[in-house]
Amino acid sequence: MKTLTIAVDGHSSCGKSTLAKAIAKELNLIYIDTGAMYRGATLLAVENNLIQGENIDNNKLMSLLDKTSMEFKNIEGENHLFMNGRNIEREIRTIEISEKVSYVSKVATVRNRLVEWQRAMGKSMNVILDGRDIGTVVFPNADIKFFVTASVEIRAKRRFDELKAKGDDVTLEVVMANIQKRDYIDQNREMSPLKQADDAIVIDNSFNTRSEQLEIAINIIKSKCPHLLH
Ligand code: C5P
Repeated sequence: MKTLTIAVDGHSSCGKSTLAKAIAKELNLIYIDTGAMYRGATLLAVENNLIQGENIDNNKLMSLLDKTSMEFKNIEGENHLFMNGRNIEREIRTIEISEKVSYVSKVATVRNRLVEWQRAMGKSMNVILDGRDIGTVVFPNADIKFFVTASVEIRAKRRFDELKAKGDDVTLEVVMANIQKRDYIDQNREMSPLKQADDAIVIDNSFNTRSEQLEIAINIIKSKCPHLLH
């Protein structure tokens, strides 16, 4: 029986997904990485040459999305996004996709489609979703809403270390510029801009370790929804 929906929103590379995954594991919830879905739509657009500069061929992208399936599968304990049966987890994390995703996620029809899929996924299961508009648009009645943030320097350094560890050839300056640009576009777009929901609880994780963040979040969930945790 469905009892719980948790929304985790925040800036780019602020540790939202790390926190959301840890909460999911601790409370046995289904984790939905909505950013991966926007990245998947971007990969589809890139592979079909539908992006010129900041412009997207929206009609063609929508007709491709009509024939596209996205699903998350657990591979060795990690959530991987499969698009039309193909594991695209690695490809959607490259800097090329990060450079383009905020243009694709500005498109209203793309957002409507992905939000529809996210709501369908969250309808019948206990879920935790991370993204930019979960507490404001996708699930405005979520039981608990977190808004995660951290300084831009810390976010850039963390993302840079992650990309380097995967063997990507990037510089800290490129990563920092990408994060700042995405934040700007995400916060200033017309449809569903990134903003803190009025009833969201802020977690600033600039100086917290992963386990401290998890402890803070679990304590908040326990105090807000004690009935869920017995
Ligand atoms: O979370 P992540 O950094 O992977 O998200 C990639 C991009 O997808 C964001 O910069 C944003 O443009 C878009 N996004 C969005 N709404 C969401 C999740 C992600 O617009 N709910």
